[in-house]
Amino acid sequence: MSEHRHGAPGQVKEVTSLANPLIKDIKALALKKFRDQQHAFMAEGLKLVIDALDLGWSIRTLVFAKAGRGNAAIEKVAARTVAAGGTVLEVSEKVLTAITRRDNPQMVVGVFAQRLMPLKDIQPKDGDVWVALDRVRDPGNLGTVIRTVDAVGAKGVILVGETTDPFAVETVRATMGSIFAVPVARATTEAFLAWRKGFSGLVAGTHLKGAVDYRSVDYSGRPVVLLMGNEQQGLPDELANACDKLLRIPQAGRADSLNLAVATGVMLFEIRRGALKLGAED
Ligand code: SAM
Repeated sequence: MSEHRHGAPGQVKEVTSLANPLIKDIKALALKKFRDQQHAFMAEGLKLVIDALDLGWSIRTLVFAKAGRGNAAIEKVAARTVAAGGTVLEVSEKVLTAITRRDNPQMVVGVFAQRLMPLKDIQPKDGDVWVALDRVRDPGNLGTVIRTVDAVGAKGVILVGETTDPFAVETVRATMGSIFAVPVARATTEAFLAWRKGFSGLVAGTHLKGAVDYRSVDYSGRPVVLLMGNEQQGLPDELANACDKLLRIPQAGRADSLNLAVATGVMLFEIRRGALKLGAED
């Protein structure tokens, strides 16, 4: 590894070797075990990294392609990273491809400290909507739900039971940056059920055997927790019994059910119907 100086003297390291220990640590973030150990995760793309910094996420390392040298926006993010106590690495295309496991990788990758919201800190107010996902398995589904929660202005996501990792590369990619805007909490089923006892809003479960049409409910004027079932098994009885209502989205055709993320999207747009107006976007 050689030192390369520009912008922030001595603080940008130029790396071309895959054997570099800093690069090895970043590559290891592809595996949950190492994400947990380092309490970190990776996000790709300049815009995402800027958004994350603007939202107060703590950056550990900024990696950028040599081709980005002299790019004003990248230099600015590099200076912010250094100011935040992070490391900046200027790397070869080969190194960036290895880190992202992608051909034609983005020019910028950020490594951030993981952040979860403690369940006890979730105290929804009237009009707030939270999505609780029972044992969600698929990273694409989880990422898509987080992105949709962001898009409808819901407050966050509660992961219930053993779920896929919200900080996996595929999940983060599927969120398209919303991982930085949407609080995520994690709870065992027991902890969620205990929390639910202290929650006086509406717990709306969705179930293929639900007796109530999701469009017949008035969701306004109270906090709502939308509870969605696991992709293969749906909601188990202990969670279904904890719901105030079990709702169903009517279907036609041969499909048994909707994809989890699609069903969550349909529900969220109905629950937030009154709050969403064209021209009123932030
Ligand atoms: N085989 C599973 C079952 O029996 O429940 C299918 C689960 S479905 C792929 C995943 C989740 O999406 C469900 O647990 C439910 O929360 C929601 N879902 C999908 N289609 C739905 C529908 N038509 N009405 C209500 N919820 C639905």
